[in-house]
Amino acid sequence: MEVKFLDLNRVHSKYSEEIENSIISAVRSNNFILGPSLHTFEKAYAQYCNSTHCLGVGNGLDALTISLKALGISAGDEVIIPSNTFIATALAVSAVGAKPVLVDPDPKTFNITSKGISNHLSKLTKAIIPVHLFGQACEMQDIIDLARSENLFVIEDNAQSQGAKYKGKPTGSFGILNCTSFYPGKNLGAFGDGGAITTNSNDLFELISKFRNYGSTIKYHHDILGTNSRLDELLASALIVKLKYLDEQNHQRNIIANTYNSLLSNLNEIALPYVFPDSTHVYHLFVIKANRRDELQSYLKSKGVHTMIHYPIPIHKQLAYKNAFSGNFPIAEMLSNEILSLPIYPGLSENEVHYVCETIKLFYNK
Ligand SMILES: *Cc1c(COP(=O)(O)O)cnc(C)c1O
Repeated sequence: MEVKFLDLNRVHSKYSEEIENSIISAVRSNNFILGPSLHTFEKAYAQYCNSTHCLGVGNGLDALTISLKALGISAGDEVIIPSNTFIATALAVSAVGAKPVLVDPDPKTFNITSKGISNHLSKLTKAIIPVHLFGQACEMQDIIDLARSENLFVIEDNAQSQGAKYKGKPTGSFGILNCTSFYPGKNLGAFGDGGAITTNSNDLFELISKFRNYGSTIKYHHDILGTNSRLDELLASALIVKLKYLDEQNHQRNIIANTYNSLLSNLNEIALPYVFPDSTHVYHLFVIKANRRDELQSYLKSKGVHTMIHYPIPIHKQLAYKNAFSGNFPIAEMLSNEILSLPIYPGLSENEVHYVCETIKLFYNK
């Protein structure tokens, strides 16, 4: 049996006709930039995130960079981010000239907590970017409380967790600005690069509306030094349809996660994902910690099961950040050596999940 790590064909097949019809009508409208599809999607996604506004941008990295810029964060400032996240979170901070400050996550939830953050605050700290990693909402109440008492901005990185909740409130609704990515493999993936920012601030909404569009709201009137970062109409037209089915698809991910959890529960050699009681998990990734991880991964591969590591090299060990960080990040390093992401996506069959689990058991019982 061959079990792919991700099969977008399966993710889309159930809705493909509806998606394609939506794209065709966007093509026929001949209105390709900042048009009606984007407007419709932004309204729907803002509502989905319990937010007043949504701004579609070019990608998730742009969403983060533009947000930091809109808040005036620049050289001399520090921004707290997790030590184990996709590189984009760090690159956005670096892009505005500020310094990313890495915080090791909680080893059980893989998310940073207010306790870890508070040890890394300095006079220069301006913002916290909590990442709802792998699909689980961070413990936002404590983070918001800390940010309030220290007068810091919170910018959510919600690239991996569209649809997750903390205490019943959706991710993407907690920070002053909240960023997400519609990279094709994300839970709400587009047919290309895309991203968005959600916010309740009218002023920041006005500012970013201009900034993403050459500093302009009236054609050829440029009020600020802006950029070009807009979510395309064709992508938005497909996202309108995909958003309708996001909860259904997240539910399918949860069913798969439950199967993994029950079939793998009595293996001492692995640790299953831990979900914090106040958080929900949308399983962008199903990440286990495994003894003899590399051997397990090779064995699974030899049996046709494809897995990945998120992430194999922590940020502080990346060449791009050589000598940039002092201090130790033992949890990020431990995770990079022990974690393994198993296949999880809408359309992955019950049979395949059973096969993955049987193969893992075979490896440890050899
Ligand atoms: C995917 C991702 C991003 C970046 O999104 P792009 O659209 O690829 O630029 C940022 N942060 C996290 C945590 C991500 O997983």
